[in-house]
Amino acid sequence: MGQQDKGKGKVERYEAIEVKCPKCGYLSIIYIPKEDIPKCPECGTQMVINELLDEGKSY
Ligand SMILES: [Zn+2]
Repeated sequence: MGQQDKGKGKVERYEAIEVKCPKCGYLSIIYIPKEDIPKCPECGTQMVINELLDEGKSY
């Protein structure tokens, strides 16, 4: 918990996330923050984050 980002340092790093349509289950992969979470091309429902794919944690 606690998704506090110290807003310092310009890190231009995209994270791949898997998004899923909660209605029909359509899956897609996007890169944040470059891309916004899209709407489902099948049924037009706002998709939700399903899984974070990039396991690289910068410590
Ligand atoms: Zn859908």
